[in-house]
Amino acid sequence: MFRPNTRLRLLFLLIVLLSSSNLIYSQSSTNKFVVVLDAGHGGKDAGNTGNNYYEKDIALKIVLKVGEQLKKYEDLEVIYTRKTDVFIPLDKRAEIANKSNADLFVSIHCNGVANSSPSGTETFVLGLHRNKDNLEIAMKENSVIKFEEDYQIKYDGFDPESPESYIGFSIMQEEFLDQSALLANFVQKQFSSTMSLKDRGVKQAGFLVLRETYMPSVLIETGFLTNKAEGAFLNSLKGQTKLADAIVDGINDYKNIINVKALESELSEYRVSSSDVMEDFSTVTFKIQLAASSRKIDPSPENFKRLSPITRYQENDLYKYLFGETNNYMSAQTLRDRAKAEGYTSAFVVAFNSAGDKISIKKALNTRVNN
Ligand SMILES: [Zn+2]
Repeated sequence: MFRPNTRLRLLFLLIVLLSSSNLIYSQSSTNKFVVVLDAGHGGKDAGNTGNNYYEKDIALKIVLKVGEQLKKYEDLEVIYTRKTDVFIPLDKRAEIANKSNADLFVSIHCNGVANSSPSGTETFVLGLHRNKDNLEIAMKENSVIKFEEDYQIKYDGFDPESPESYIGFSIMQEEFLDQSALLANFVQKQFSSTMSLKDRGVKQAGFLVLRETYMPSVLIETGFLTNKAEGAFLNSLKGQTKLADAIVDGINDYKNIINVKALESELSEYRVSSSDVMEDFSTVTFKIQLAASSRKIDPSPENFKRLSPITRYQENDLYKYLFGETNNYMSAQTLRDRAKAEGYTSAFVVAFNSAGDKISIKKALNTRVNN
């Protein structure tokens, strides 16, 4: 339903969000944007064990990396449902998020199926499954409640392995569905633009852990442990780092859009609408300027706090060092925030036309309006 290419739907949603400011909220009592990170499974519940990898361990490693990164942003607060290898009941996970008045709940998992060929990333929001595959994944993830002693009482007789239980699955998350889908789209977009993993898209299914939360919530399946190549990628430090970076950027894309006030004040001087910045500018490339120096430094990520890609160009007598590359102004803001979080506190967005010449942000943004 919410395919990443349903841009029109997202634009519509954005306009709704922008025009009804009461929908824009930060639930927490502090001014910080609170993200609850939920590593699936743990303790006696190993999750899926495709190719002898343990889902509980890989999910936790990715979650800890996401949290480590998010903590660098001053306006973000991170809460974990678990930081170690312990068993946490599903309802307890949601309770942690609800009690902390979180702005987002992000549950991270790895996929596993009997067949070894399926691969790719997919992000779920709560809803009624549209096909058998989505139902199967929800059944598998929900079946962990059987590790909980009184699960039949706690979940009102819900049988995670019976398709009948999913008929009339009550959707308490309805009011957060659009925002959840927005986040899910951003996460999938980051995955597909930064990695060669197959993009399986944004989907809906009846996940118990998502049903119990009172905030926008997603469940990310970061890839298939049962697929040999993907399992090895998920088990690697490089794979976990890339996946974590993409999730962090997806969360920041979402936060930047929800934080409409900041976005609008930034855009007011350019006379473009907020919805314009959601679109890609085909003739403009945005990059983030990290530093300018008379010294010629090798533009490798190692010299720039692991940020990648780094490019260098010369302007007058100075070498300018740039991070990232995107055709989307909003994504550029997220990249800039990442650079700031890494310590480049004066990082800013610069724009280049298709000939590679630097142009002003105003001119870049007006390119779209004039087209
Ligand atoms: Zn799982």
